[in-house]
Amino acid sequence: MVAKREEEYRVVYSTDHGAVCGSCQKPKDRCTCSAQRRSAVVGDGNVKVRRETKGRGGKTVTIIAGLAMNRDQVEALQKELKKLCGAGGAVKDGVIEIQGDHCDAILRDLDRRGIRAKRAGG
Ligand SMILES: [Zn+2]
Repeated sequence: MVAKREEEYRVVYSTDHGAVCGSCQKPKDRCTCSAQRRSAVVGDGNVKVRRETKGRGGKTVTIIAGLAMNRDQVEALQKELKKLCGAGGAVKDGVIEIQGDHCDAILRDLDRRGIRAKRAGG
């Protein structure tokens, strides 16, 4: 990595703050809220894998909840699990949904990754 020249670190203040972030009150260009949100761990590490069919028109999905990962890591894991299961999927509030019943395959895969997970529900 090449060290940055000093002037690149200098913060230039304008007379006008311009847009200010609503949560940290910092000018938008200095706000790190969204980066912090992305790096925040979403789960408590009490990982549960369960099958869910309710309210989905009879379709089964496998839910992986409680992952002690940040959103980027959850997103990356979801992509790998989709590939593993050959199925579609989504991430909602840090919870992974994979279409179809893949509890066994996912539990095995999480175990291989060193993630302790428990099967929950039916
Ligand atoms: Zn902010």
